[in-house]
Amino acid sequence: MKPTGLSLLLLFICGWASMTEASAQTTIVSAFDVIHYDVQLEPDVINKTVTGKVLIRLISRVDNLETIEFDCGALLIDAVRENKEGLKFTRNGSRLNISLSRPAKAKGRRTIEVEYHGSPRRGIRFFPDRGQVYTAFSNSQWMVCVDAPEDRATLRLNLVVPAKAHTVANGRFVARHKSASGKIVHEWRQEKPVPTYTFGFAAGEFHEVTERHGRVRLRYLAAQFSDDELRRIFRDTEDMIRFFETRAGVRYADETYTQVLAAQGYGQEMSGFAVMGESYGRQVLGDERDVWLGAHEVAHQWWGNMVTCRDWNHFWLNEGMAAFMAAAYTEHRFGQAEYLREIEANRVNYLKVRDAGKERSLVFPNWTAPTAEDRMLVYDKGAYVIHLLREQLGERDFWAGIRHYTRTYFGKSVTTPDFQRAMEQASGKNLADFFAKRVYLTKR
Ligand SMILES: [Zn+2]
Repeated sequence: MKPTGLSLLLLFICGWASMTEASAQTTIVSAFDVIHYDVQLEPDVINKTVTGKVLIRLISRVDNLETIEFDCGALLIDAVRENKEGLKFTRNGSRLNISLSRPAKAKGRRTIEVEYHGSPRRGIRFFPDRGQVYTAFSNSQWMVCVDAPEDRATLRLNLVVPAKAHTVANGRFVARHKSASGKIVHEWRQEKPVPTYTFGFAAGEFHEVTERHGRVRLRYLAAQFSDDELRRIFRDTEDMIRFFETRAGVRYADETYTQVLAAQGYGQEMSGFAVMGESYGRQVLGDERDVWLGAHEVAHQWWGNMVTCRDWNHFWLNEGMAAFMAAAYTEHRFGQAEYLREIEANRVNYLKVRDAGKERSLVFPNWTAPTAEDRMLVYDKGAYVIHLLREQLGERDFWAGIRHYTRTYFGKSVTTPDFQRAMEQASGKNLADFFAKRVYLTKR
């Protein structure tokens, strides 16, 4: 995309709008750890509703755990059970509070079943006239879960869909079943634990193109483009994956990477796939250099999905990094001028925020109600600061630091001090002044 369009787009990618409720979750995560979700979900695209049932397997971290809380968005809870026995529950805003019939012991495993339905207004997007639906970040709007980035879990998703639907969800497609009532069910399994905000699916009357590039199978789903156009739109995908694998020092974690062009959308990364709007496809067909968004979402498969900010206060580690890495990809693909153009767009957007007197530390004290400027800082200043770090360290030390950071924290949660430490360890340089001045604003 053109740099002039960058800031507007950045304001809408990656589901930031839905983050408010997901920001204050650390307290509930600390009492127990969810290890697996088993979800059966029927989205009704015409009526924009969902009906679901989730089995949540968890391990208590404390002794005598009597109540547990999940995020439930605006979903209506129909029943809560453990071993077929009904449990008492109340809701407090978007939290579901459940009283266990007997307290959990430390390290005790429990499985809670929740039935629910609802008409989510965010976290999932329905396009009735196009027969499409996909999820977007705020997952407690369509499945009861712990919606905090540090709680990783595996997932089995049984998605009830119309007969003509093509689907993508996390991990591996297992099978197409017929339910007892004759409905079509697509079963997907995510077998490596990932943060719940990277759970999701897309379903619709898409046509599908599949290509295999080495180890990774690439799927393209869209309704509005020919097979040949889809191959052209996504022709750099293999190169993106290879580039990020080299920069990360870690291989792409899945066997398949799927990209969906839905009726509308700005870009939403999920584990193993991304959903973008048809407008992205038209942009790339118009100008082959407009692949920044596609590269940004591929970059999230490492930075965001696998190396994940511990809480949203460190969100710049997800978004600033993915924005920087997308620019770095454009440098690899189209040359340094293209990279500098992207970074300059980041810098200009950052200066707008700074000159308006809205600059803040990149590490937020409490990311509960971020403003548009806060988000621009996280994306634009985040990418720009990582670029400045690259200039300060030089090519060899900077990329060695990125590899060390990514390898050290792959599949784990990170904070900004973790990032600083990894870059210092790899480069042998003290970055306290750099982080004080550029990240924390504690030194001018
Ligand atoms: Zn992003």
